[in-house]
Amino acid sequence: MSENILVIQTAFLGDLILTTPLFREIKRRFPGSKMTVIVNKGTESVLEANPWIDQIIPLDKKQIKSSFFGFWNFCKELRKHNFTICISPHFSFRSSIISFLSGAKRRIGYKTAGFSFLLNERKPRLLRGPHEVDKLLSLIYSEEERKNISRQPELFWKSESVSGIQSEMKKNGLEKGNYILVSPSSVWETKRLPADKFKTVSKLLHEKTGLKIVLTGGKGDSKLCEEVGEDFGINFAGKTSLPEMSYLMSGAALLVTNDSSPIHFASAFNIPTLAAFGATIPAFGYTPLASRVFISEINGLNCRPCGIHGGRVCPKKHFRCMLEQDTDRMVEEGIRLIKG
Ligand code: SF4
Repeated sequence: MSENILVIQTAFLGDLILTTPLFREIKRRFPGSKMTVIVNKGTESVLEANPWIDQIIPLDKKQIKSSFFGFWNFCKELRKHNFTICISPHFSFRSSIISFLSGAKRRIGYKTAGFSFLLNERKPRLLRGPHEVDKLLSLIYSEEERKNISRQPELFWKSESVSGIQSEMKKNGLEKGNYILVSPSSVWETKRLPADKFKTVSKLLHEKTGLKIVLTGGKGDSKLCEEVGEDFGINFAGKTSLPEMSYLMSGAALLVTNDSSPIHFASAFNIPTLAAFGATIPAFGYTPLASRVFISEINGLNCRPCGIHGGRVCPKKHFRCMLEQDTDRMVEEGIRLIKG
């Protein structure tokens, strides 16, 4: 019998991108299966044209948090799909409840998930050490089985979804390999390299390589991108959909960013990546997977890491993990990454 599989991944955008190798491997592990994926509403377009996924269900978290009946009705609708397996890479207690109420007989997730007693196949998950993609693949493969499995995320787009960015790029003289993408934002403030440092690095990279600088981010990052790229940058913040971001990333010569989701877009296209890590550390498993990578960080700072995601403000008030970042070294490494 072919399996009818539900995957629950309602975490942040970066986590969803890192789950794409798992989507592929689920289809390999369970040939002939049908796969439905629940994602956070607003992130679904990053999975458009993904050949492994049969159906995407966007979940409006705000709505289900505000109304018990909304949540109940959502789960009631899910039951009608007759899922046989539910895989939950997301470890909130709500995901475990959805998994249970989905009616799937096999419910796979992490031991450390909230309400994990509602799952019946619980896998260990190390906080530090393995890359996040390895942790995700451990839901369906043993360590031995995943040895030769590619960890590279996969992103796709429909041609009609990228025609807008194609004409914007043409207008701005952007062609494959002639620009550096700079994404200076992050959801968490302590994961952000200060704007003046981004500006120094971007300007020097622009002057030393002759490559154009393109700034990206969400709508709320437009001012920050303006500040970073003032006088020399092309500000695309808030102007790209998720498929357009994938398309733009696929042609970049280099990505300069923080420990944030653009890293995982770059990994999907093997784009050289220069990333500044502050409150978080590479051992958490969210490092770039491109073949040319440099992580700029302050080693030996005993307050690092100070949170799994980083926080809003530096609990020690000095913010040394970012303020002491060496911009000269970042520029030097950026040029090395571009040259290959
Ligand atoms: S406590 Fe340390 S690691 Fe955390 S934000 Fe401050 S300087 Fe960075």
